[in-house]
Amino acid sequence: QPIAQPHRRIFKIIVIGDSNVGKTCLTFRFCGGKFLERSEATIGVDFREKTIQIDDEVIKLQIWDTAGQERFRKSMIAHYYRNVHAVLFVYDVTNINSFENLTHWIEEYNRFCTLNQTSSLIPKILVGNKCDLESDQKVSTNMAQTFADMHQMPLFETSAKDDSHSDHVEAIFMTLALKLKNS
Ligand code: GDP
Ligand code: MG
Repeated sequence: QPIAQPHRRIFKIIVIGDSNVGKTCLTFRFCGGKFLERSEATIGVDFREKTIQIDDEVIKLQIWDTAGQERFRKSMIAHYYRNVHAVLFVYDVTNINSFENLTHWIEEYNRFCTLNQTSSLIPKILVGNKCDLESDQKVSTNMAQTFADMHQMPLFETSAKDDSHSDHVEAIFMTLALKLKNS
C-alpha cells in the first residue's frame, strides 16, 4: 500500500521593478520574516524559497529577485522570464519615477513572457512599497489604483519595513499562492 503523498507543486514567482524600490527586502520579509536594514544591491539573480501549506496542499514558492543591472540583463533576461508562474511588479510610493517606469517593466515582461507561454494567464500583482514613509508619499493610492485597473491586476500597498499600517507582505504572497493553487 503506497503512502499517500501530499500534493506538492513548485511555482516560480518573479519580482520586477526599479532598483531600490525594495524588491529584495520584500522577498526577505516573506521568506525570512526580517527586514534587512542595509541590503546590498543584488547582483545577478538570487532566489529564495518558502514552503507553505494551504488546505491539504504543500506548495513551494520559488521567488526570483534581481537588480536591473545591464550586465545581468543581457545574459540572464531570457532565463529569468522562462516558465514564470506569477509576477510582482513593485514600485516605491515615495518615488514617482519608479511608478512611471512600470510601463517599461510591463512591456519587457510582455515581450519575454509571450515567447514561452500565455502571459495573460499569469497572475500579476502591483505592489506599492515603503508605505511606512507616509509623509513622503508621492504616488497616491488613486493614481496607482487607476494604473492597476488599466492593467487588470490587484494593487497592494505595503511596507517591507513596517507593515502595521498597510497590506501585510505575507498577505500579498498568500493571495498569489491561493491563485496559483487554484490555477
Ligand atoms: P531593491 O533594489 O529593489 O532590491 O531594493 P532593496 O530591497 O535593496 O531596498 C532598497 C532600500 O530601500 C534599502 O535601503 C532598504 O532598506 C529600503 N527599503 C526597502 N523596503 C522598504 C520599506 O518598506 N520602507 C522603508 N522605509 N525602506 C525600505
Ligand atoms: Mg535587490
